[in-house]
Amino acid sequence: MYKRNEEKKRGGLINKGVKMNGKLLKFFIAGFFILSAGVFAEIKVVATLPWIGDIAKQIGKEKVSVTVLVKTSQDPHYVEAKPSLIIAARKADILMYNGLDLEIGYLPVIIESSKNPNIQPGKIGNFDCSQFVTPIEKPSSVDRSMGDVHPLGNPHYYFSPSNILKVAQGMAETLGKIDPSNESYYKKNYQEFYEKWQEKTKKWKSANLAGKKFVAYHSLFSYLAKEFNFQIVGCIEAKPGIPPSSAEMQKIIETINRTKPNAILVNVYSPKRAVDFVAGKTGVKTILVPHDVGSVAGTDDWFSFMDRVISLLSEA
Ligand SMILES: [Zn+2]
Repeated sequence: MYKRNEEKKRGGLINKGVKMNGKLLKFFIAGFFILSAGVFAEIKVVATLPWIGDIAKQIGKEKVSVTVLVKTSQDPHYVEAKPSLIIAARKADILMYNGLDLEIGYLPVIIESSKNPNIQPGKIGNFDCSQFVTPIEKPSSVDRSMGDVHPLGNPHYYFSPSNILKVAQGMAETLGKIDPSNESYYKKNYQEFYEKWQEKTKKWKSANLAGKKFVAYHSLFSYLAKEFNFQIVGCIEAKPGIPPSSAEMQKIIETINRTKPNAILVNVYSPKRAVDFVAGKTGVKTILVPHDVGSVAGTDDWFSFMDRVISLLSEA
């Protein structure tokens, strides 16, 4: 009797112990998942430019964390490889960049100094968005020492809806390869992006842009002009990235007087003096156009950025 009681007692204790262990186990499992959710769930995307970060966010949503290297107020052609940028790149699962040598002045240094194996050239985490784009304005010969910042053709293809759609699709496919357990999630987000893109593109195409003429400070709008059937009659900066000489300024003034464009398109980092001089001499109004997502208020994502660009140009 005593023995049985003792066994029962012991069994009870053992059972209790098991129960406690079970609770503890559940606690530890829950803790592990919370911990692993924090550590593993998000794919760390590092994007050079704001528009790239935005498309990555629209495709990756809560499965990605996005760090953007270049500020919306910065001229994307001239960025310094600061230590903070190298540190950001060190943690990336994937580095997404514009390509066509737009980031040539700083990105190779960042990639190398980061010592991050994920983002080295040839790796899946080295994602050049321009791989989906056919560049326009490819120069026949380039001497970068002369300061030409578009050596592989015009890099500002993110003004082109058809190019952005291909980039978004490529991002969804690549994120699905890096994070296969969420492959269908990225596909679904791309589908949503595509539906919004269709609706917006239809609206943009109905804007009154065909036949308009503009002068730009920098050749930012060539893809847009091609896709929306308007004309960039010239750029104040005759060669991309090279401040215009007085002869080049005179030439663009003559072009403006001859072609009578609707407006001169400038962006936040265009040199005010050169723009004011040309505008003053010709009497043509200038319009501040966002050069990237977030560079002027109310352009927080690529769609609202394009909404703004199209409405500014169609009202000119
Ligand atoms: Zn440029």
